[in-house]
Amino acid sequence: MQKNARPRPPGRRLAALLALITLAVTIAPSAARNVATDDMDISIKPGDDFYRYANGGWLKTNTIPAGQSSYDTRAILAENTSQRVRELIQNAASTHAFKGSIAQKIGDYYLSFLDQNSIDAKGFLPLADEMTRIAAINDTKSLSAYLGTTLNTEVDGLTANADHVFGIWINQGFEDFDHNLPHLWQGGLGLPERDAYLDSSPKMVDLRNQYKVHIGAVLKLAGFVDPEVQAARVLSLEVEIAQAFAPDSDAADVTKQNNPWKRTEFSAKAPGLDWDAYFQSAGLAQQRDFIVWQPSAVVGVSALVHAESVDAWRDYLRFHLLEHYANVLPRAVAAEHFGFYRTILSGTKQMPERSTEAVAATNGALGQAVGQLYVQHYFPPRAKARAQAMAKDLITAYRGRISNLSWMTPQTKQKALAKLAALQVIVGYPDVWIDYSSLDIAPGDAIGNMRRAEAFNRSRNLARLKQPVSPIDWPINPQVPGAVIMFSPNAEFFSAAILQPPYFDSEGDSASNYGSAGAAMAHEITHSFDELGNIYDAQGRLQDWWTAEDRARYRKASEKLVEQFSRYCPFSDLCVNGRQVLSENIADMAGLLVAHDAYVLSLKGKSDVFIGGLSGEERFFLAFAKRWRKLQTETALRQQLKNDTHSPGEYRSDTVRNIDGWYDVYKAEPGEKLYLKPEDRARIW
Ligand SMILES: [Zn+2]
Repeated sequence: MQKNARPRPPGRRLAALLALITLAVTIAPSAARNVATDDMDISIKPGDDFYRYANGGWLKTNTIPAGQSSYDTRAILAENTSQRVRELIQNAASTHAFKGSIAQKIGDYYLSFLDQNSIDAKGFLPLADEMTRIAAINDTKSLSAYLGTTLNTEVDGLTANADHVFGIWINQGFEDFDHNLPHLWQGGLGLPERDAYLDSSPKMVDLRNQYKVHIGAVLKLAGFVDPEVQAARVLSLEVEIAQAFAPDSDAADVTKQNNPWKRTEFSAKAPGLDWDAYFQSAGLAQQRDFIVWQPSAVVGVSALVHAESVDAWRDYLRFHLLEHYANVLPRAVAAEHFGFYRTILSGTKQMPERSTEAVAATNGALGQAVGQLYVQHYFPPRAKARAQAMAKDLITAYRGRISNLSWMTPQTKQKALAKLAALQVIVGYPDVWIDYSSLDIAPGDAIGNMRRAEAFNRSRNLARLKQPVSPIDWPINPQVPGAVIMFSPNAEFFSAAILQPPYFDSEGDSASNYGSAGAAMAHEITHSFDELGNIYDAQGRLQDWWTAEDRARYRKASEKLVEQFSRYCPFSDLCVNGRQVLSENIADMAGLLVAHDAYVLSLKGKSDVFIGGLSGEERFFLAFAKRWRKLQTETALRQQLKNDTHSPGEYRSDTVRNIDGWYDVYKAEPGEKLYLKPEDRARIW
């Protein structure tokens, strides 16, 4: 357990009990909030078009918001959540909470970020100490020591390019599941990916030129006298760094990233950088073992530290320092940053309001502090208890499914069951929150707040190297609607914000919750056992636990689903590519089956009530179909068909046609469009 754990408020148990009693009174079946029928189209036969039967009313009465390419339940959820988070942060800012409280830290972080006038008045002075340190770099040793201070934890497992020349992520090893280890990542490029530096097409040459202009503009704003010359040096150094980067395609192959290096091996394997000086100032002098994700980048950058001129490195570090803090520097720098990154690179024309940026920055720096407020307001203990109960039913259901699989060999089933038994499905929010009491957030000090928050996160993460692997650090904030599958360690996280209507209603109908959020959770759990997760064992170690026979039989069983989806053609010239979306379709199907088993389990032999004239079974499948409702432009749909590994929502909703239980409930018959003969239904899980 972490030190400095915040004690639970003593009233919590009582509050949970009260919530339970209140719920028993208020959930008159006819009033369940998550069973709406006016968004359906009951003139359509479910067996002909279950998606429009469930969503016809909604599809007719909604439109895609101006400037966007799609609109769906996910967008509604994201919109509601971001509005709530904004209100929580702004309320904290207006309450004048006592110094040291979470509300004070959130409020002052927000307000200081918002106060562009005082940021402008300070100019570049808040970075003067750091600029002096950079100016003092005069040899390999001092350069190495400085680079060590930039090693930070701004790596989230999906980034191929950390914010500094190396990024660090603290997690268990690929083989050693007993210890947290530092995973070293390539980083330090200003453009988003390696190919942007190496591609010689006119488009990329042009982009590099625009980037060079941007570098010069930032340095000029900060008062440097020779910005064009400096910008050229910075770009050419970054091209050299990019040449050492692992190819982008390597990111998909985790076996290439499992490179254990001893601390003592760095100097021989990657000569150039003064590794003693580097690790000393990075706070890792005592660390014995590392995992190097992209050895070529470590070797290449290390050589450049010695070979490239100190002048070029100083310019590079100055520019990246300014860029890193662009949003809390004078507004001309923030505007220049926006102009390149958001307009040139991403096509966004209008700079968002400062308050929107301030909310995002606060949420980023004080994620679990905002998360605590979010949970207090929107995710009561009752919600967590219901989500946990559902997760438990899903695991029980999975155990049954795995035991009865026809394609998995007996010895593989044993491994799958062991992995399932070890899998941690974690919902809502952390049991122990990050303790922010040692982090000082001061009014009127935007840049200081950002730097202190970064230092706080860095030392907190490095401290985890000396702590047990469990409890696992939450990889997602509770107020971010989403789920994270870890594989290593063997754990899956579902945030409080994804467990809210329309996916999950802690005060609403259980059948609908299992059909919607339950099926979504079971989908994610499936990935731990399918061709994504079969290379990680029960402890999260890299180890392929399927046999060739499992693989062959699994693929044979999947063929029906490939053919079924390839027959869906939204345009005369463009159909679904059944193979491209196969893995996700299998997870959808497994998720629906498992969620249905879990729903039945949850009834404990009793029959469910009717709500609005609908049986529990009807509501279960209806909720599944409703989750996929989506409006999108033709361009967006075509784009999805070509590139996405997920099928369009309509066809994901049609997964029901493979499920026998759906036929029992909705009585689809031969001749109806979705009807499949029992022998034509896909059966994998
Ligand atoms: Zn998936």
